[in-house]
Amino acid sequence: MSVAQGIQLHPHHQAFASLRTHLLRSRRMLLMQVVSRPVPQVEQGLPTDILDLAACEQERLIDDLITQRTHVTPRHIERALSRMLDTSYGICHRCRADIPLPRLRAQPDATLCFTCKQLSEERASARRAAWRPDTSAEAVYRS
Ligand SMILES: [Zn+2]
Repeated sequence: MSVAQGIQLHPHHQAFASLRTHLLRSRRMLLMQVVSRPVPQVEQGLPTDILDLAACEQERLIDDLITQRTHVTPRHIERALSRMLDTSYGICHRCRADIPLPRLRAQPDATLCFTCKQLSEERASARRAAWRPDTSAEAVYRS
């Protein structure tokens, strides 16, 4: 028996191969976006006019959002690709059930099945609703 015959392929092996190609393509596109971004002109210093300063600050915030997005997404792609190698890809991290293919096709880096993702979002929403900004720190500590 050859080595290839001894390997158990996941039932969704062919679909995962297609998702892997999609992830690799997404990673390549994100890296190209990072490389093609202009280098900030730090040596020019800050503008003295208040409107120029506001415009400069707005550009910096947009740059930060793009940077944050491009740094988070490639990390998720790398993790998904490594889960494909250790065969944990497509398995919910919380309940260990198979993540349905339509969900993986919609979000190839998904780590939770739809039910667990929904529960996670509901818990996060409940935590945000429970937090009251007008409550003193002492009252929050005692509750
Ligand atoms: Zn789950």
